[in-house]
Amino acid sequence: MSRAAGASGATPLARLLAARIAAEGPIGVDAYMQACLQHPVHGYYRKHAAIGAGGDFVTAPEISQVFGELIGLWCAIVWQQMGRPGNVRIVELGPGRGTLMADALRAARRVPAFHSAASVELVEINPTLIAAQRACLTDAAVPIRWSDDLRPSSAPSIVIANEFLDTLAVAQWVFRDGRWRTRGVGLDASGELAFVEDCSSDEPSLSPPPNIATCSDGDIFETRAAAFAHWTAKLAALGVPTAALFIDYGHGQPALGDTLQAVHGHRYDDPLRAPGESDLTAQVDFAAFAAAARDRGFYCDGPLAQGEFLGRLGIVERASRLMAANPAKALEIESGALRLMSPGGMGSRFYALGVSSKGLAPLPGFDRVDSRVGAP
Ligand code: SAH
Repeated sequence: MSRAAGASGATPLARLLAARIAAEGPIGVDAYMQACLQHPVHGYYRKHAAIGAGGDFVTAPEISQVFGELIGLWCAIVWQQMGRPGNVRIVELGPGRGTLMADALRAARRVPAFHSAASVELVEINPTLIAAQRACLTDAAVPIRWSDDLRPSSAPSIVIANEFLDTLAVAQWVFRDGRWRTRGVGLDASGELAFVEDCSSDEPSLSPPPNIATCSDGDIFETRAAAFAHWTAKLAALGVPTAALFIDYGHGQPALGDTLQAVHGHRYDDPLRAPGESDLTAQVDFAAFAAAARDRGFYCDGPLAQGEFLGRLGIVERASRLMAANPAKALEIESGALRLMSPGGMGSRFYALGVSSKGLAPLPGFDRVDSRVGAP
């Protein structure tokens, strides 16, 4: 198979990685993914517009304005549950084109006391997307600042992250000849990037999964232990009452399988073909993320399938009202909402997880009886 490193069309990052691998040996899949997305110069999320019809993929807020509007009202209810603090910080991790936040703030105007208490912080590392966010949010009537990291604050915080966790580096293990081996990226005989097993640069903090008795040769296990520990520690370090909503594609229970996927121009691509030029993601293991959050003392609500979550927040009612108010756009509004809810698609493949500090009530939209698991 033609790979990037030796091919004439090799990307600059492919050439850098091939040189590094030739000198130092294979790198873990997590190190490969990290470089592809976050390399300071050539990383995909350092430069590409990524989202939308002219980008590589489409996300829920780009499909329907109702998504961001419901999240804006969700934030308003959480603020009420927090005791209506005079200042509340709304943080969005990886805000894309700013569409979700623009829709959320427009909906939040319906709760004036919340709207005037809110300030917004957008955590983003991509200058192209920061420019898009600024343009999208010019009419916002709340203070907005940008940050390249999640930083502590004195105000209670509500954190939103849609399709952010799936960009975090995932490590892979492959079950071969009775034991787990790290999966990495090396070079094949013609110098092309190729997947290898037993690479030496695995992170010592990542441990292979238990219960190998039930595994078959070739099974792949993925873990984001390092990245989840990093981001849940940052949430805990905020040091203020915090409620967070993570929505992403993934699975509610741990599962085996290689889910690393590259997307370029709205088509699936070979993850090794064009490092730095394709989006690279993997399914989110919500049980693992919830466990990491609980380790930091948080409560978790869910995970709940996106269709169920949006249904409980009132997507049908909201979409119906919008359709009645905009008959010319009724079909478009209906098809957008249906796409977010579709049982075989985003409605069941995406999940919502609520994370909150001790002392806060169960978060809106989650079932308080069966899904709330407390910190140890
Ligand atoms: N939430 C948006 C975009 C999802 S794509 C939506 O739903 O449309 C992932 C987003 O995370 C992009 O905005 C990307 O630039 C950003 N991102 C990726 N890695 C990041 C990091 N380490 N810190 C902050 N933002 C990051």
